[in-house]
Amino acid sequence: MVEVRGVRKSFGAVPVLRGVDLAVGGGTVTCVIGPSGSGKSTLLRCINHLEKIDAGRVEVDGALVGYRESGGKLHELPDRVISRQRAEIGMVFQGFHLFGHMTALRNVMEALRGVRRLSKKDAERRALAALREVGLEEHAESYPRRLSGGQQQRVAIARALAMEPKVLLFDEPTSALDPQLVGEVLAVMKDLARGGLTMVVVTHEIGFAREVADTVVFLDDGRVVESGPPAEVLLAPREPRTQEFLTRVL
Ligand code: ATP
Ligand code: MG
Repeated sequence: MVEVRGVRKSFGAVPVLRGVDLAVGGGTVTCVIGPSGSGKSTLLRCINHLEKIDAGRVEVDGALVGYRESGGKLHELPDRVISRQRAEIGMVFQGFHLFGHMTALRNVMEALRGVRRLSKKDAERRALAALREVGLEEHAESYPRRLSGGQQQRVAIARALAMEPKVLLFDEPTSALDPQLVGEVLAVMKDLARGGLTMVVVTHEIGFAREVADTVVFLDDGRVVESGPPAEVLLAPREPRTQEFLTRVL
């Protein structure tokens, strides 16, 4: 479903991704862990082409993201094509980025109307279904400021879900939340995983990774140091750097 191969990315002279490979199967959950600055967010941003990559390739469902290939070279696609591709790759951020002047329902409807060009009625129906999935149907008419952080993040998840993305990327979705609100968001994500959504989750929630991930990827200094099932990477890591990281965070 998602294939990342040999992806390199530098900011100025600073290499941040030093040749990353990642294969995410359809309907699976990959959790990416690693120290601050290791390149986790950059990796997600490369997957949906919010960052241009310097080398390598990203494919979603067999299609190159951000580029077309001709004569053995990659050429960047026009913005409108990239926007279309991005609509298939959902992203949920640490800060929820909801529109404050719109109700939860309107927030979820926005891209359905603007990007998917659905009628008001169809957009509303889909948005309500997405809010139901995250357990917030009764808050459809609430404005973000009236919702808790956990509820706001669930609206953001509903907004991404409503687009029916091929894959949903999460960048530390619970890091900005008060501890007592983390559980409700993780519970929603667990439901989505059970429902067969393809997910890539950057997280510091090792318990979540252990329980939900099919694959855990440990990223350090722009490289995948170790990856595999949670029982291996989290419970019996082979690499000293993984061991050291886990001792620090657990
Ligand atoms: P954290 O756990 O703190 O979120 P991370 O693993 O997500 O860290 P990234 O945000 O991907 O790390 O950043 C990796 C490195 O790239 C950092 O050193 C960061 O300062 C640098 N970096 C990220 N984005 C940019 C940018 N737009 N311009 C310059 N440097 C950047
Ligand atoms: Mg980050």
